[in-house]
Amino acid sequence: MTFREYDDCFLWFCDKCHHQAIFPLGDFWACVAELKARRWEFIRGEGDWDHRCPECKKKSEVNVSEMVLVPKKRSVVSE
Ligand SMILES: [Zn+2]
Repeated sequence: MTFREYDDCFLWFCDKCHHQAIFPLGDFWACVAELKARRWEFIRGEGDWDHRCPECKKKSEVNVSEMVLVPKKRSVVSE
């Protein structure tokens, strides 16, 4: 995900699927709130922000539910 601040607008651009959102320059956090309302996701990582657009979020949710089906930890716990 790429974020850019231009002279007259904010731009969020998804590197993966090229989904983008443009807002007129103003309250940054209001734009973030609006993006969240549109199901964009903002995750505070280690000192850095990770973003996901609604399209990529949908795909990752599919991946996560597939992963949940695999009981990875069972073999580690038994001793
Ligand atoms: Zn995307």
